[in-house]
Amino acid sequence: MAGPTLKPLSPGATIGILGGGQLGRMTALAAAQLGYRCHIYCPEADAPATQVTSLTSIADYTDEAALADFAEAVDVVTYEFENVPFVAAATLAQHVPVRPGPEVLRICQNRLREKDFCRAAEVPTTRFAPIASARDLHERVAEFGRPCVLKTAELGYDGKGQISVDRDTDLDTAWAQVAEAAATTGVILEDFVDFRLEVSVIVARGLDGARRTYVPVENQHKNHILDQTIVPARISEKVADKAEGIARHLAEKIGLVGLLAIEMFITADERVLVNELAPRPHNSGHWTLDAAVTSQFEQVVRAIAGLPLGAADRLADAVMKNLLGEEAAAAQAAWSDPYVKLHLYGKGEARPGRKMGHTTKLIRR
Ligand code: AMP
Repeated sequence: MAGPTLKPLSPGATIGILGGGQLGRMTALAAAQLGYRCHIYCPEADAPATQVTSLTSIADYTDEAALADFAEAVDVVTYEFENVPFVAAATLAQHVPVRPGPEVLRICQNRLREKDFCRAAEVPTTRFAPIASARDLHERVAEFGRPCVLKTAELGYDGKGQISVDRDTDLDTAWAQVAEAAATTGVILEDFVDFRLEVSVIVARGLDGARRTYVPVENQHKNHILDQTIVPARISEKVADKAEGIARHLAEKIGLVGLLAIEMFITADERVLVNELAPRPHNSGHWTLDAAVTSQFEQVVRAIAGLPLGAADRLADAVMKNLLGEEAAAAQAAWSDPYVKLHLYGKGEARPGRKMGHTTKLIRR
């Protein structure tokens, strides 16, 4: 069934999604609305995305036979998190279009490659350096000054794999914690950014090269996990334009087909520094389900299906709140406010910090 898709996917075609989390679930729901089927490929049974579609492959991402069957069964492939092994995307791409392409995934999987890519695109980031040895670490910390931040280049999220190097941090102890990562996927040292706030911009780019950006939003974290997103971000028009311009530029440079979420720091002197890229729908874009003309999930489906993009305008201001762990039990409170929309992801166990759902409070403009 698979082959290069040059025209828009026809209704009834099948979108393959690598990953079974809530982002895949909400993408599958949006795809269903547009008349597409979704086939979820993930290692876990009863994952949030597999609850909303009948087509699933429960297999490891390195299972070649399962990947081959999956490629046969779908018309296009996307992924809902960037830690899908690159080799899985690259293997699938030999048989079926993978959007965004495997090279986008490769860049966004690794903090060093991300920042090198930004540098090559002449987009500002915080100062950074690869660290390959304890000696490197001593030298670079002396150069950057304290505080600074040591991070594993891969597989870190929500603050995992991050060590802040403060006045009292013993560098040899810090090195011991990351030495194994340094030997495999790499380690990066970054200047500490004394930011005024953190924002993100989500940009979509279609198969025809058209781009649409959502308004910059403000992200507030608790324990390194996104707690709230305030829409729009409380920044000047000039800074918002700069942030959106960076997003459009990076989408073009990376050859995006799909969505790219860009996390940025805004400093007191109004500099915009890129921190991280995610080539998929993003937690900070969940507000678009209830408060934008086209949700980020519909938008990613349109982009990868080769359809025209929808408008990204916001219809209302909003505050999105993640429901983490036991907070989901309080979700009932959402019903008391008729302008709060509740989304639950169908996860069983409410482990601390686990993203169980979110609410979006609509604020009339
Ligand atoms: P990350 O995994 O890179 O998104 O980092 C998680 C959070 O740690 C960010 O949202 C920031 O709040 C903080 N952080 C990461 N890198 C830096 C940095 N270089 N300077 C200051 N804060 C940082």
